[in-house]
Amino acid sequence: MAINIQAYAKIKSIVLQNNATLVAVSKTKPIEDIQALYDLGQRDFGENYVQELTDKFEALPKDIRWHFIGHLQSNKVKYIAPFVQLIHGVDSEKLLLEINKQGAKNNRIIDCLLQVHIAKEETKFGFNEMELAELVSKMNTINLTNISIRGLMGMASFSEDKELVKNEFNGLQKIFKSISFSSFDTHPSLSAFNLLSMGMSGDYELALQEGSNMVRIGSLLFGERQYPVK
Ligand SMILES: *Cc1c(COP(=O)(O)O)cnc(C)c1O
Repeated sequence: MAINIQAYAKIKSIVLQNNATLVAVSKTKPIEDIQALYDLGQRDFGENYVQELTDKFEALPKDIRWHFIGHLQSNKVKYIAPFVQLIHGVDSEKLLLEINKQGAKNNRIIDCLLQVHIAKEETKFGFNEMELAELVSKMNTINLTNISIRGLMGMASFSEDKELVKNEFNGLQKIFKSISFSSFDTHPSLSAFNLLSMGMSGDYELALQEGSNMVRIGSLLFGERQYPVK
């Protein structure tokens, strides 16, 4: 168990050159590894499981910005609502409404990204382009005073085919741009829509080329994960 300091330096510099944010994905990894990366200056960390995230939040320095990047169930929003920095994988209106409710309870505005399904694989969660357009168009009619929709998140196909992955990222970037332009100023909860979270260990450089400004990287920094998790 050790972090890869050289990989961190390299990724950090590429990410900086692209004016992007690096989210270090620490799911399944021990507190000590997160602390080690923290000691090198990393502050944004991503987790996929609610219980694991709340445990780590308790144990680690309070200036860490915790990103929830997994599939979030509505009934678990309350556990992370008091402190979460950004929820990446919002994929239903029901979940949006619950996050809004928990934001209100905690007297804060919770930043979210809408997850868009861009991969070929059936298993990946997210809105398709039409569902997304529908949601955006009716935004005025839903009460979202305690949510700020900061942008979009997507995962490309898990594939060696670089052209395919590149096209999927490019497609997401186009959707991102069209929403930024069309909705700016019209919906309060979309007024800070400027984050495009795409790119992981295997494809982050392609994602940055296609306009990503937030990458989520785990295994390159922390080593391969061992499954099952718990
Ligand atoms: C696990 C995970 C990552 C990081 O994956 P790596 O390939 O280890 O970099 C990024 N995004 C999401 C949504 C994940 O679940």
